Amino acid sequence: MELFNTLGKAVMPFVPVMEKSVGLYACGPTVYHYAHIGNMRTYVFEDVLAKTLRHLGFAVQHVMNITDVGHLQSDADSGDDKLMLGAVRENKTPWEVARFYEEEFFRHCAMLNMTRPDVVCRATQHIPEIIAMIERLLDKGAAYVSAGNVYFSVEKFPNYHELGQLVLEEQRATDRVSHDPLKLSQSDFALWFSTSKFPDQIMKWESPWGLGFPGWHIECSAMASKYLGERIDIHCGGIDHIKVHHSNEVAQSECCFGHRWVNYWFHCEFLTVDAEKMSKSKGEFLTVDSLVEKGYDPRAFRLLVLGSHYRSSLTFSWEALDDVATALRKARRRIISIQENTVDHGKAFSELHAASYRRFFSALEKDLHTPSAIAELWWVIKSNELSDSERIDLLRRFDDVLGVGLFDKESTRLTLEQADLIEARSVARVAKNWAESDRIRDLLLAQGVSVNDLKA
Ligand code: AMP
Ligand code: ZN
Repeated sequence: MELFNTLGKAVMPFVPVMEKSVGLYACGPTVYHYAHIGNMRTYVFEDVLAKTLRHLGFAVQHVMNITDVGHLQSDADSGDDKLMLGAVRENKTPWEVARFYEEEFFRHCAMLNMTRPDVVCRATQHIPEIIAMIERLLDKGAAYVSAGNVYFSVEKFPNYHELGQLVLEEQRATDRVSHDPLKLSQSDFALWFSTSKFPDQIMKWESPWGLGFPGWHIECSAMASKYLGERIDIHCGGIDHIKVHHSNEVAQSECCFGHRWVNYWFHCEFLTVDAEKMSKSKGEFLTVDSLVEKGYDPRAFRLLVLGSHYRSSLTFSWEALDDVATALRKARRRIISIQENTVDHGKAFSELHAASYRRFFSALEKDLHTPSAIAELWWVIKSNELSDSERIDLLRRFDDVLGVGLFDKESTRLTLEQADLIEARSVARVAKNWAESDRIRDLLLAQGVSVNDLKA
């Protein structure tokens, strides 16, 4: 397996710390709101990464945290705790908000066919581990107490700029904008808030520094090392986390353990809408439920996401989703008809079958190149050269990793004519031929098939 490593900025052969097992940590959601489809893009790739590694024979320990306290609005340790904002918005306690959105998150993950991580750990249930790590950092002189808060001193970690390739000048410019008098250096970051600037904080715990709550970065370091040890194979997240969150995680962990902490950093590019990164704080965003409300199978979104490489940004559009949904529907119908008509059961598989299998998995082994893997999938679906049972066998193996529900029968109750009508309708829509698209919709409705109306 080869992976692009943000640390070193190159595609590198993947060599785990322990032969045949992989510790994989993923920064989980901040559960103050629904996860949007941008977040889901990152989680889908993490899921495919874990499935690919398992396919290669690695025993993967996939750990994901739940950020249910301490993630402030601003990366400069200012603003409110996002869970508090959620509580005010919904007139609930932060605990209620956290549990509700955590459940919703995993409901959405299941709709996208993701395997639940082996360990899901909440920050609020790891306060003793977080406190212990902060104490170690204080003992080592890498952290300091300032007016009751504890801060990590970035100058104690000379490699601070390595992961994010931070340009010092750029950083100084942002530092000037958000001056915090409690910090010795403006690049320092909070490990624990107790003489809190946040008097309304509801989630708080006793600590050696007073009643308070942890900073966001230390949560990940403490939980990741609790479950995966002090040397971690792969740490994942979206690219927005590189410069602050992940650089801070590295700094505090490596100061604490005294050696390299994570060997490979896997970062997924953004999903954008209208050239803007989709983000929760802007208030308007799409969730997996939004897709379902428009009549889409969430697995069509999964296929859309996997159709571009994780290191390219992806612009979401309903038209693109529509195309992929139609292609998926047709693929499922085709598979049903192959299964119904197969006459070559029991025949030995040919070299062509083996070659296709190799092409698919070597695409994934080359830095998770899902677009090439999906191109192989379409080739198999259309191929006249492979026997029917070879095609079914390959498609099953491909779908084990891609997870797009190729063998799903639920949403394939359409006749071939109806599927063609749906496709004709989407062609009409692209051509903005609304009269034709409405005519086809009515025709389908008359046959008891309701279709999405995307004009809204
Ligand atoms: P958050 O809940 O904001 O901490 O984000 C959860 C995960 O989604 C993190 O790995 C983020 O880096 C990632 N993420 C946030 N926004 C996007 C986006 N627009 N596209 C892809 N990934 C994102
Ligand atoms: Zn994290």
